Amino acid sequence: MGRKVLVLAEVKDGNLRNVSYEAIAAAKTVSEGGEVVGVLLGESVRNLAEGLIHYGADRVVVVENDKLSNYSSDGFSQAFIAVVNEEDPEAIIFGHTSLGKDLSPKVASKQDAGLISDVIDVEVAGDNVVFTRPIYSGKAFEKKIVTDGIIFATVRPNNIAPLDKDESRSGDVSTLEVEIKDLRTIIKEVVRKASEGVDLSEAKVVVAGGRGVKSADGFKPLQELADVLGGAVGASRGACDAGFCDYSLQIGQTGKVVTPDLYIACGISGAIQHLAGMSNSKVIVAINKDPEANIFKVADYGIVGDLFEVVPLLTEEFKKLKV
Ligand code: FAD
Repeated sequence: MGRKVLVLAEVKDGNLRNVSYEAIAAAKTVSEGGEVVGVLLGESVRNLAEGLIHYGADRVVVVENDKLSNYSSDGFSQAFIAVVNEEDPEAIIFGHTSLGKDLSPKVASKQDAGLISDVIDVEVAGDNVVFTRPIYSGKAFEKKIVTDGIIFATVRPNNIAPLDKDESRSGDVSTLEVEIKDLRTIIKEVVRKASEGVDLSEAKVVVAGGRGVKSADGFKPLQELADVLGGAVGASRGACDAGFCDYSLQIGQTGKVVTPDLYIACGISGAIQHLAGMSNSKVIVAINKDPEANIFKVADYGIVGDLFEVVPLLTEEFKKLKV
């Protein structure tokens, strides 16, 4: 008994993304006592292997190649499929990130396998590994099992708790040489658009603004609150459409899906398309001057008031707690 499970680790700015540790935790459950193998792809990533082992990987396979310095579907799929062919795993777990969403179906189709995407929980029940995922924009949940072939899944960031870090753990780190050929796209330069700082999709705290924020300048108090809480700023589509902020901040059905520990919605009415991207947050606080606003229906705590008065007060109070 026990499965061999591959986990694609994601690297951002030279560091492992949190979702990599969460994927390892999911893989541990799926492995049922088998082996969890972390996979690192990049130009110079070997130094990160130990981190994966400290969070539960039993060993790590590294593919280093200058053609993997930036993500491309072509390059990463060639490298990852080479690892899959070498390792012959029974299950593969990705993060449900832009990268994971792009790469996982490509790899799964090459293995003639299905894919369970956007998983928020995994458990073993009898002979089955059961994956839970939201459907109908988070209004219901379905449980899925794989009856045949390789198990493929992507796990939504911030839902599956990583294992405790254990620096005494050790494991083998091996290198696989892969020739990357015929790249159809070559990334010359990456120009960052989103704000620096905490990654919105992985943030533990999100302070989001809507049309009620009224202008780009209106986002400043929200950024200050997010900074004090170590969080990220997000937005409704209403705010993005109005030109107050970049579309990379949009949360919702056609934006990012976030599940932070704390979501503070400021001047957001709570349209169903917005709720689709945040209603699974652990604690929701809504600030809105309209007591009838729909956002209060999903909020754990509601503050009826002007966000330009309430947000700075919250920032001051949280600053006091930090001292
Ligand atoms: P509004 O609905 O205009 O709400 C503004 C709120 O601010 C009001 O409740 C008001 O009471 C409050 N307010 C005003 N001033 C203050 C103040 N000073 N203090 C406190 N409160 C104040 N929307 C998304 O967000 N994400 C999506 O991904 C998305 N996808 C969509 C996809 C489709 C196909 C469609 C049709 C729509 C989509 N929308 C999406 C748009 C969605 O329907 C709403 O139009 C949008 O979410 C409204 O944004 P809002 O809440 O910021 O603005």
